[in-house]
Amino acid sequence: MIQKPKGTYDVTGKLGLEVRYLEKLFASIMEKYNYKYIRTPVFEASTLFHRGVGETSDIVKKETYDFKDKGNRDLTLRPEGTAGVVRSFIENKMYADSNQPIKTWYMGSMYRYERPQAGRYREFYQIGVEVFGDTDAYTDAEVISIPVNFYKMLGLKNVKVMINSLGDQESKEKYRQALLDYFKPYLDELCDDCKERYQKNPLRILDCKVDKDKEFFKNAPKTIDYLNEPSKNHLNDVLKYLKAMDIEYVVNPNIVRGLDYYTQTVFEVEAFMPSLGNQNVLCGGGRYDNLVKNLGGPDTKGVGFALGMERLLEVIHNENIELDKEEVDIYVVPMDISCKDKVASLVQYLRLNGFVVETDYINRNLKGNFKQIDRLNVKYIAFVGEEEISKNIIKIKNNHTKEEYQIKFEKLIDFLDDLEVDDHEENI
Ligand code: ATP
Ligand code: MG
Repeated sequence: MIQKPKGTYDVTGKLGLEVRYLEKLFASIMEKYNYKYIRTPVFEASTLFHRGVGETSDIVKKETYDFKDKGNRDLTLRPEGTAGVVRSFIENKMYADSNQPIKTWYMGSMYRYERPQAGRYREFYQIGVEVFGDTDAYTDAEVISIPVNFYKMLGLKNVKVMINSLGDQESKEKYRQALLDYFKPYLDELCDDCKERYQKNPLRILDCKVDKDKEFFKNAPKTIDYLNEPSKNHLNDVLKYLKAMDIEYVVNPNIVRGLDYYTQTVFEVEAFMPSLGNQNVLCGGGRYDNLVKNLGGPDTKGVGFALGMERLLEVIHNENIELDKEEVDIYVVPMDISCKDKVASLVQYLRLNGFVVETDYINRNLKGNFKQIDRLNVKYIAFVGEEEISKNIIKIKNNHTKEEYQIKFEKLIDFLDDLEVDDHEENI
């Protein structure tokens, strides 16, 4: 039997309902923020990620799926969403749009060649946001509020926002020098990757999962002590707006993030759950004021984040949060095979009027239909038989109270509307 590739998984059954619920909820939140949906290709020119995500990041060094197509082009399955969205922003000249800032959101599969384990897959699903334009610290806070509100609406309890600042380019330079000075005497004790990071991008040493528990790591210089005045002000403004929005946070100087492009604000939302182990970061993001320019666009600032679906689902399952509100408004029972055309017409009519409708697909008898109704979460049952058809009525039964009604066909929709049968959409 052919099996799924290592590090991938199928979305089926209950998981399918949960995933769709999350996607719909996020989409509805984005409508309220007035962010616009964007979709970019799953594969891009390899150089986009080398220049965008950064040559020294783990992602580009070890984790990308690179291939050549039949035209000998170097392509890479996207390991993250930002680089593609930035490419699209530049290529479609969104910077020239009169309606600024450009507020976008996306969702889709990402690909990283990692060691599969709880909360870590080779194909995984991210939802994210990118905002482009000459924005100030309010935007950082607004972007942070998005996953926070999402998690809040889902009822997640054990999550925490960690925030830090890397500062602007000048502050980052000063900090870089401080790190070089600090780690110099410990060079031999660093892992091989960190030895290379020391040469190319010492900031990345702090994101190392191998070295992070070593004693000398604890006293490493902190970004926050190297911020110049404008950077300090920026951070303080972000914190001020977060407070105004009633969003709790912890300033955590150890957050540096795995990607090379961040400046100023960086943040993560962490879950406190032992089963996730090292995979407890639910979402990460920050400000990337140089990325658009680095990728060949005009000097445009950006802020964004991406959250992982798999880790979120892990928390949802762990906290026993029920998402799947699978409810059938009406189950239409054909009393006889000869009534099936009327049933087909009624099912069609009800669905076009916005109701969730189930019916009999395999010619069950009445008892079989009731068994099936018991398996589904059905609110109302409609019976269609010769007698009803001849009188132009539908027999309706409330599946919970067992009350019965006889309704004229043309009054059916009004009747169901009055009962607020299809009120489930409002929950999202
Ligand atoms: P980690 O440090 O755990 O490897 P990361 O810094 O590489 O995470 P990001 O690139 O910031 O992660 O991606 C944002 C989010 O996407 C993460 O917080 C996580 O929820 C999710 N994510 C990242 N890599 C994976 C993966 N391999 N499998 C499942 N989810 C992932
Ligand atoms: Mg990673």
